[in-house]
Amino acid sequence: MDPARELPDLMRSLPIDRHRGLPIPAVTARHPDGGPDFSTVDGREALRLAAEGRCGICGNPLDSLVAFLGGPGAVEAGAYHDPPMHESCAEASTEMCPHLSRRDMRRLTDRRSTGVLPTTGTEEKPDRWVMWICRGFAAYVVDGMPLFRPTPYLRLRTFAYTDDGHLRETPSTTPRP
Ligand SMILES: [Zn+2]
Repeated sequence: MDPARELPDLMRSLPIDRHRGLPIPAVTARHPDGGPDFSTVDGREALRLAAEGRCGICGNPLDSLVAFLGGPGAVEAGAYHDPPMHESCAEASTEMCPHLSRRDMRRLTDRRSTGVLPTTGTEEKPDRWVMWICRGFAAYVVDGMPLFRPTPYLRLRTFAYTDDGHLRETPSTTPRP
């Protein structure tokens, strides 16, 4: 994480991983030793927070608009494995989350945590990420994994990897459907 970057206010109460200096998102799974497993979403926690109308990153109550983050396939399917977030938290994730922010950083496939539902770990990393901003969602469990179906989007924001492998928002805008 760029040390010069300010954390969004909503994320200031999150615990900080002392090894990476990164805030630990609310849905991040834990290794048996209690350390964060940034490569795995705790599916039960994701569903619990979503059911309570809370952000999967900062854990605070969601606003009237919610954001989802996933690859182009998620947009096509209208379905996300990662939980609803604040738009500001989703944006911060594109800059801070090691899995998202750098093209060459792979999620580990190691599943040392037990009782934790892996979500996106088995997918190939997409070449771009799309933020779906909408007013609501429904939550399901499919094959033991959380699945979120957002309501029709109001806006889409696209983030693509630069030639040197950093994720940046692209200027293209998508009109309303
Ligand atoms: Zn948040």
